[in-house]
Amino acid sequence: MRIDLHCHSTASDGTDTPAELVRNAAAAGLDVVALTDHDTTRGYAEAIAALPEGLTLVTGAELSCRIDGISMHMLAYLFDPAEPALLAERELVRDDRVPRAKGMVAKLGALGVPVTWEQVERIAAGGSVGRPHVATALVELGVVPTVSDAFTEEWLADGGRAFVEKHETDPFEAIRLVKNAGGVCVFAHPAAAKRGRTVPEARIAEMAEAGLDGLEVDHMDHDADARDRLRGLAKDLDLLVTGSSDYHGSRKTVTLGAYTTDPEVYGEITRRATGAFPVPGTGGA
Ligand code: AMP
Ligand code: FE
Ligand code: FE
Ligand code: ZN
Repeated sequence: MRIDLHCHSTASDGTDTPAELVRNAAAAGLDVVALTDHDTTRGYAEAIAALPEGLTLVTGAELSCRIDGISMHMLAYLFDPAEPALLAERELVRDDRVPRAKGMVAKLGALGVPVTWEQVERIAAGGSVGRPHVATALVELGVVPTVSDAFTEEWLADGGRAFVEKHETDPFEAIRLVKNAGGVCVFAHPAAAKRGRTVPEARIAEMAEAGLDGLEVDHMDHDADARDRLRGLAKDLDLLVTGSSDYHGSRKTVTLGAYTTDPEVYGEITRRATGAFPVPGTGGA
């Protein structure tokens, strides 16, 4: 069983449509794929409609959170997408991404970059708008060669010249909301140091107390030392260990299934979840 529990589609900052994502996941030999767009569940219907036979879809989202001024991402799986409190929080975060992106466009304008909101809006194409869309605009304008190259102090990295904060949820509140909606919480790429400051272990221990289910350990942004340390921490705190690609289509170099999750851990995630069931593919359109 090959299980990839973290993938993005055009519903946020991936480049595969949800239908393309599930087809590509099947073609990559995956048995289980999770759709975890940033702060939205809008891709679910299309992914389910296109789900190939033999592939199972885990519905989810990657929630933007912040603690002690440190941004972090919380993967939420198999929650009830209609549960009102979590839905309201997702919408708050997602909607705030629009004025925030406009703010980054304004800062870029002041820096002499002729990017427009219309350009970013076209690139985002109705998806949950984020820095990768702004970064794609910078690539189109020839300002940087790749999306990753826009994530520097000079441009869009946390605290960078054109960076603007967005509303982000307190992770303890996120855990409470996700649990209340029957979901399971996994701290995404907790040691991705190149993205900025990381959350201290003492805080992760508090999150474990508050109901955090797991840590995403096997991820491209973690080196061997970080993975060893996180595996030890997960053991100490009795947390599940996951691995996943964090696939973004052509906006990142990582491929589907580049990192995977142990089937036993996947089984435990599905046992804990009460908000939704994994969707088995029946060979959709
Ligand atoms: P935002 O949610 O709008 O703040 O943007 C954060 C997103 O930017 C992350 O989820 C990644 O998809 C992407 N990202 C962050 N750092 C990098 C990087 N160095 N290269 C490419 N994409 C990145
Ligand atoms: Fe992303
Ligand atoms: Fe993330
Ligand atoms: Zn992600």
